[in-house]
Amino acid sequence: MKEKFYITSPIFYPNAVLHVGHAYTITVCDAIARWQKLSGKEVYFLAGADENAGKVAKAAEAAGNDIEEHLEAITDAFKDLYAKLDISYDQFIRTTDKEVHWPGAIALWQKLVEAGDIEKRTYSGLYCPQCEAFYTEKELIEGKCPLHGIELQKLEEENYFFKLSKYTQILKEKIESGEFVVLPDTRKNEILAQLERGLEDVSFSRPVKSVPHGIPVPGDPSQVMYVWCDALTSYMSAVGYGRDEEMFEKWWPADIHVVGKDILRFHAAIWPAMLLSAGLPLPKVVMAHGFVLSGGQKMSKSVGNTVDPLELINEFGADAVRYYLLRKIPSFEDGTLTYDLVKDAYNGDLANGLGNLVSRVLTMSEKNLSAPVMPEANTIPEAFIEAMNRFDLNRAANIVWERIGELDKKIQDTEPFKLVKVDEEAGKKIITELALELYTVGRMLNPLMPDTSKKIKQLVKANKKPEAPLFLRKD
Ligand SMILES: [Zn+2]
Repeated sequence: MKEKFYITSPIFYPNAVLHVGHAYTITVCDAIARWQKLSGKEVYFLAGADENAGKVAKAAEAAGNDIEEHLEAITDAFKDLYAKLDISYDQFIRTTDKEVHWPGAIALWQKLVEAGDIEKRTYSGLYCPQCEAFYTEKELIEGKCPLHGIELQKLEEENYFFKLSKYTQILKEKIESGEFVVLPDTRKNEILAQLERGLEDVSFSRPVKSVPHGIPVPGDPSQVMYVWCDALTSYMSAVGYGRDEEMFEKWWPADIHVVGKDILRFHAAIWPAMLLSAGLPLPKVVMAHGFVLSGGQKMSKSVGNTVDPLELINEFGADAVRYYLLRKIPSFEDGTLTYDLVKDAYNGDLANGLGNLVSRVLTMSEKNLSAPVMPEANTIPEAFIEAMNRFDLNRAANIVWERIGELDKKIQDTEPFKLVKVDEEAGKKIITELALELYTVGRMLNPLMPDTSKKIKQLVKANKKPEAPLFLRKD
């Protein structure tokens, strides 16, 4: 039986215009998923949308749309982007899905109640209407929302609370011992510092009047679940929690949750605490990646520095966009993307680099070898395997391009196209080696640039030079 690997992308908030950040997160997930599949595991890859927020309803209303149609259109836009980026997800969960998602959210809530961790309290707190979240004084930056920099509203409500504070110590131990892995170390230290300061109990429900389409709290129709028990639970409901025990047994716990660094606390503190309360296994890894910046700033509509991922895909193709995101953005830190940077990388590394190498090697092999080369199994270098297993995709991509550079140099140093005329055997031997090494490059590209990988492997196996360059130079 194959080992399983369950990977989740964050479920995106459907109130935003698609931007490069969405493309980045999902491409990171896809590269990991494809790699695990290539390594022989049975992979389940979850994507989705967090649709039950009050703000979503307001946005639909403001646009004069029916909420269901509004959400449908946004989901379609995500799915369209994923299809264009060649994303191999297995399921797209929507938290408005009453059959797939709601039973799991309700079942988990009940578990938390049984554990004595849910309590009704009058809550008076600082509320950011844009985050739709309450903040504690400690979390504010200069008295304002840490994400939006706006003044917060003082709000008083009757809510259910989850006793998060109770789990501070055990979470700390599990993260420190490595039983629950938070990547990278900078983020692990950040969460440990938060745990050191202590966690406060969190508001876990909202009055139904403010979020009319949310999931009702079991036994109290005046309240709906707040984002924690609703959205985070989708990672389990998607694989059967609350409705299909066999499926859930098979896939849970998640092997990795990939998240942006801005939602680390939710995934490395609130979510595992909920699971501990319910007596369920914790995900093995939470990996927080950085932001894709443009001109040194986070992309935002108000700054006017957003880059539309669909425009990039139209211009350069899916694999080129994947290449940029995986190679030029450090896997665990912030990176920069602008249209011009993508174009430079495309021309330099893809048209001149990889594309040119493919043409040169296969032109020589088609001309001089009477039959296609026979690649051996398992030729992927150990360093690449190790980088992919550590989720360091940026390092893995660098290894591929180091190899491409070495092959270019080998051609330059040995000039096999000349050598073959004076010493046929020696020339053919080098050309054979080059074709086999190119095949290995094709193999390594499988998780990073799946279409290019397939093309290279097909061409080597057919011993044919490409009919057109793999990447046409852009002026
Ligand atoms: Zn905010």
